[in-house]
Amino acid sequence: MNKSPFDLSHQNLTVDSKIVAALERISQAFRVLLWNESKELSLSPIQIQVLIFLLYHSDEKRKVSYMAHEFNMTKATISDSIKSLEQKELISKEYEQHDTRSYIIHLTPKGKELAEQTALFTNEIQTPVNKLLPDDKENLLLSLLNIISHLNKTGVITIQRMCMSCRHYKTNYNGEAHFCALLNTKLETSELRVDCPEHELVK
Ligand code: SF4
Repeated sequence: MNKSPFDLSHQNLTVDSKIVAALERISQAFRVLLWNESKELSLSPIQIQVLIFLLYHSDEKRKVSYMAHEFNMTKATISDSIKSLEQKELISKEYEQHDTRSYIIHLTPKGKELAEQTALFTNEIQTPVNKLLPDDKENLLLSLLNIISHLNKTGVITIQRMCMSCRHYKTNYNGEAHFCALLNTKLETSELRVDCPEHELVK
């Protein structure tokens, strides 16, 4: 039977379990930082995540159904968040001509200002990452991308816009470890993307 990574008699004997336990601690740190931010601004954590998403993504992604996939939530939950953000005058809706039930969500100037401020909620995690050596950063990035790729393939998390799940990504192509067919260039490990605007899912 598999041993739990939280079983200390097992965890302290295997690097693998220590890594899983450490990732859990880091996910807890994200939750705490997001929660602190949300208390300060009287917004829910998901409302803050929505504001940050709206700030950095294009029109076709700024829709309720897309964001429901993005955050692994129901459309009803995202719609409730949007309604609340609209009441607070942080977002506005632009209804589409061909389908009046569908709309693109825009940040208002007040929403943009707030989103820019809250987008820095990860500063305490960014600081130690900045201090890593360049090789360690590359190894960590590659390892994390491989973990995310597995979680995506097994259906634990949904939308991923990273190189490993992109139809333009080729590995071991022309002797290059990573290659982007869209940009027609090799990608250094440090150039692999976690959230690429040009990403297209493998069909
Ligand atoms: S289009 Fe973007 S995600 Fe796809 S392989 Fe190229 S850089 Fe990576």
